[in-house]
Amino acid sequence: MRNARRLLFVLAVLCTAGCGPRPVEDTTSASAAGLVRLPCRAEVNLKAAHSNYCTLDRNWVTPDAQAVMRDAAAQVAAAHPGAVVHYMEASWPSAQRPMPPHLSHGDGRQIDVALFYETSKAAPLPRPPTPSGYYAFEPMRDGDFDPCVGVKRPGNNRSPPADRNWRLDEERTRTLIAALLADNRVRRLLLEPHLKARLGFANEARIRFPGCNTLRHDGHVHVDVR
Ligand SMILES: [Zn+2]
Repeated sequence: MRNARRLLFVLAVLCTAGCGPRPVEDTTSASAAGLVRLPCRAEVNLKAAHSNYCTLDRNWVTPDAQAVMRDAAAQVAAAHPGAVVHYMEASWPSAQRPMPPHLSHGDGRQIDVALFYETSKAAPLPRPPTPSGYYAFEPMRDGDFDPCVGVKRPGNNRSPPADRNWRLDEERTRTLIAALLADNRVRRLLLEPHLKARLGFANEARIRFPGCNTLRHDGHVHVDVR
C-alpha cells in the first residue's frame, strides 16, 4: 500500500512535466503588435525544432505567415505521411526589425524552417539531426557553384563530418519548398545556389541567395512572407 502510494506520488510529480493529453497552445491571441504564435508542440504537422523558440518568445508571426506555415506543413504531410515541418527562429512579439542575430526577422514575416533529413540508409528522420534545427548543412558537391569562394562567412559554417549517419532528404525537402512556392503569400525563399539547383528549382526567381555575410542557407530555408 505504501509502495503504491509512493508510486502515485512519483507519477504525479513526473506528470507535471508531461503526461496526459497534448497541452493546449494559444495560437490565436495576438500580441500588441498584431502577431500570433506558431504552434510549439501541440500540432501534428508543424512543430518548433526546439522548445527555446517558444519559451524565449521567438515564434511570433503575422496571421498570414502562420497560415502559410500550417498550409505548407499540411501539404508535406499529405505527400509524405508522418512528415513534420520544424521551424526555428521567427520573430519576437514586438514586430520590430531586425531581431538579432538576424539581419532581418522581427516583424513576423520571416521564418527559418528546417530541411528534411534521412539516415544514410534512406530511412526518414523525424526531425533535423541537430538540437537547434540549424547547422545540419548540406555540403556542396564537386562542380557546384560557390558564390562565396575565398570569403570568410560569419559564425559556424563548417560542413558536418563526412562520416555522419544522416543526409539531406531531397524528396521531402523538395515537397516542402514546392508547397511554399505554390503559396502566393510567400514573397521569397533564401537558399544556397547549389541546393536550389540540386532540388530542381534553378529557374525559380523567388528563391534567392542570402549573400555571404550570413549563416549558410543549406541547413535551413528562410521564408519571407508578404
Ligand atoms: Zn532567416
